[in-house]
Amino acid sequence: MRTSFTPEQRRDPAMAESEAVIRACVHCGFCTATCPTYVLLGDELDSPRGRIYLMKEMLEQQQQPTAEVVKHIDRCLSCMSCLTTCPSGVHYGHLIDHARTYIETHYRRPLLDRIMRRVLAAVLPYPARFRRALGLAKLARPFAHLLRSIKALQSLSAMLALAPAKPAKGLATKGAEAQGARLGRVAMLGGCAEPVLRPEISHAAASLISRMGYEVVVAPNAGCCGALVHHLGQEAAALASARRNVDAWMAEIEGAGLDAIIVTASGCGTTIKDYGFMLRSDPAYAAKAEQVSSLAMDISEFVAAKGLPTVTRPPGLIVAYQSACSLQHGQKVTRAPQDLLTAAGYQVRQPAEAHLCCGSAGTYNILQPVIAGQLGDRKVAHIAKLSADVIATGNIGCATQIAARTGTPVLHTVQLLDWATGGSAPEAFSSHPS
Ligand code: SF4
Ligand code: SF4
Repeated sequence: MRTSFTPEQRRDPAMAESEAVIRACVHCGFCTATCPTYVLLGDELDSPRGRIYLMKEMLEQQQQPTAEVVKHIDRCLSCMSCLTTCPSGVHYGHLIDHARTYIETHYRRPLLDRIMRRVLAAVLPYPARFRRALGLAKLARPFAHLLRSIKALQSLSAMLALAPAKPAKGLATKGAEAQGARLGRVAMLGGCAEPVLRPEISHAAASLISRMGYEVVVAPNAGCCGALVHHLGQEAAALASARRNVDAWMAEIEGAGLDAIIVTASGCGTTIKDYGFMLRSDPAYAAKAEQVSSLAMDISEFVAAKGLPTVTRPPGLIVAYQSACSLQHGQKVTRAPQDLLTAAGYQVRQPAEAHLCCGSAGTYNILQPVIAGQLGDRKVAHIAKLSADVIATGNIGCATQIAARTGTPVLHTVQLLDWATGGSAPEAFSSHPS
């Protein structure tokens, strides 16, 4: 796509990067067919190509974003399906992140939208606050249905509907010693939403990794990866989270050393793998962030690379594998989780339209509840055709979105791998004979 950014604009590294991304787009339109919002809405402006055009105009002309432009940018899930499809290697993700930051600083949103975004940014990245908020949400949950009928309160209704009916049991893992011959040491991301909603995922991961011969540590000062605020356009907050985590993991790297930084929430993994890019203009952090990014691995990548422990009790269940967008499109990890589940004795099935987002997408299912709901229902309808005993996924957002729509247990892939190789049975299968 031709652009005419001025030399002065190009001196801004973010603007120069966005121009390079825009120029790589040849307008072929291949990406439209695999874009969830285009598939649902059929509007070119809700396709990657249409959005790239809108972002080019907004950034190049230094325009004040209009409500119409913001609407189409906001509807993007950041699912990165277009990244997988694009034959020209257009790095849409960096462009939409820049556009979101631009909108955040050049556009005044309606009051309720501003309040909702501030609440999300002030609560979700902080486990203690999030835990308290879930307690309040439980009390307000019965009113979710009523709120849904008031358009301006649909986001609040969606947030209440997604809150789990039962609080999670216990806290996330604090780490584990290596079992058997010690092969190395890894850090696990503690994170923010996952340890509050499903702390058992971190326990299963630590159990599995420790049986593989690796010590597991959780760096005390590492926390939310910054993805949630990053996708809200709050760049300064996202970079602050990235710097804090880089400091926390560099202390481990320079201390007892790390072989990998393991992430069980693929949305977070995608962001951590991008820390090198996010902090590229910060001389104090660029090299360290690059080092941290290069050590980051999704749990399935790590287990596939080091080898699954011996399968001691194959449960023989049919697993519907829901491929999280952040894992398949963001990190290009597609085969490892499915191959590991198969090797662990599960029969793995993939739903139709596996490339399409389930509608979770960070805070999307709260901020865009109508589109997210349609995508969630569509995903669950495809999964239902598989007659699966259990649904596996690699991201807490997908697990929450899907579990709200089905009676089939929804687990993290690592819980199934841990169980089959000697770990505890997930609660949903505590009476299973294996
Ligand atoms: S990130 Fe996803 S929703 Fe956004 S334009 Fe690309 S394919 Fe469409
Ligand atoms: S597939 Fe790539 S090059 Fe083609 S329109 Fe989409 S983003 Fe542009």
